[in-house]
Amino acid sequence: MPLKDKYDYIVTGGGCAGLSFILHLLQAPSLANKTILLIEKEQNRTNDRTWCYWEKNAGFFEEIVFRKWHKAWFHGLGYDALKNLGPYAYKMIRGIDFYNHCYERMAQSGRVDMVHEAVKGIENINGGVEVSAGNEIFRGDFAFNSILFDKPILADTTYYLLQHFKGWIIETKEAVFDPAQPTLMDFRVAQDHGTTFVYVMPFSANKALVEFTLFSPSLLEQEAYDEGLRDYLKDYLKITDYTLLEEEFGVIPMTDHVFSPTSGNIVHLGTAGGQTKPSSGYTFRFIQKHVAAVVDQLAVSGNPFLEKSVLQKRFMWYDRVLLHMLFHKKMPGSRIFTLLFSRNPIQRIFRFLDNETKLRQELILLNTLPQWPFMKAGWKELFK
Ligand SMILES: Cc1cc2nc3c(=O)[nH]c(=O)nc-3n(C[C@H](O)[C@H](O)[C@H](O)COP(=O)(O)OP(=O)(O)OC[C@H]3O[C@@H](n4cnc5c(N)ncnc54)[C@H](O)[C@@H]3O)c2cc1C
Repeated sequence: MPLKDKYDYIVTGGGCAGLSFILHLLQAPSLANKTILLIEKEQNRTNDRTWCYWEKNAGFFEEIVFRKWHKAWFHGLGYDALKNLGPYAYKMIRGIDFYNHCYERMAQSGRVDMVHEAVKGIENINGGVEVSAGNEIFRGDFAFNSILFDKPILADTTYYLLQHFKGWIIETKEAVFDPAQPTLMDFRVAQDHGTTFVYVMPFSANKALVEFTLFSPSLLEQEAYDEGLRDYLKDYLKITDYTLLEEEFGVIPMTDHVFSPTSGNIVHLGTAGGQTKPSSGYTFRFIQKHVAAVVDQLAVSGNPFLEKSVLQKRFMWYDRVLLHMLFHKKMPGSRIFTLLFSRNPIQRIFRFLDNETKLRQELILLNTLPQWPFMKAGWKELFK
């Protein structure tokens, strides 16, 4: 298909945020005449990640949800509980299903031109944008960018922890998993390298994703993740005979750095647009809420710019306080999460982590944590 001289919207980066944004765009009747170009460097998508998140009702991507669970285990320090998640479900989407679904929808619409090149830069020029990719320059009214070109330049006071994890999809001969009972967090493992936990997402009685996860300033040697996984399988799940089917490795920044949401006519989406929750690394649902709001704004006003709410500032402060506690090692993450999960209904924790609680619920939740260290951290972060 020949490319146009100019597009209404150029989407740079076609991962979770870029593709979610386009799918929302395609469903907005008042934007049906808008021209869309997607520039994504990867030609062939693989099952490079799985997304897990909680949600109350059927969501925008419900038809590609691979598994969902209504109960989940939490194992903390001297505390073990199987939690009923209702009205939430914990859901999993496989990367490959997501990419295929989005590509199919885009092809069906016939409205999205696609270029597979690496974007080199995006500039605001003459009231629009110019994107250089490969040897070409593409022009548009707005760019929607989810490419994190460089690690952000951090102020001295900014926290930057990494959530890093290695996951194995394993298959066993024996039926060892209960497919209805995943483990959300298991903190019983050694905490030598920082906050460390494992989660287990069973697909069937003999197949599961087991993920070894840390919050810490730096990565480990690959062998250390493998050892963590092997030990967990042996010591806690009593599994020694298994086949490793697939492996995933990921790093998610946990930072209070403020990613600028826009610059001129460039709107940043996804992790590059600050949609990763600093204190948890969860991003998928924040991306969905954000792209839906941007598309609504485009449909209503023709521009994609959203106001930053007071609410967002309050939750950013909570995130900073937790990062402060972890970064300065004021209290082990395993203890903080054990207190949270043993003293609060999981629904309150989910709402809080979704930035959807009311002030009263937040005060109740904060009251379940040791007050003095958190108050000190909160005070410092308020005046930082
Ligand atoms: C392995 C893994 C597992 C995760 N699991 C979860 C989870 O369970 N739950 C959750 O909430 N979050 C999870 N996350 C965090 C987050 O949801 C994902 O990172 C998510 O993919 C972020 O979406 P994004 O669009 O910002 O970035 P991406 O999905 O990474 O998309 C960016 C896109 O830009 C493309 N690109 C990069 N550079 C260029 C360039 N120069 N030119 C053109 N294209 C380019 C990339 O190929 C990619 O397609 C996970 C992250 C990883 C890495």
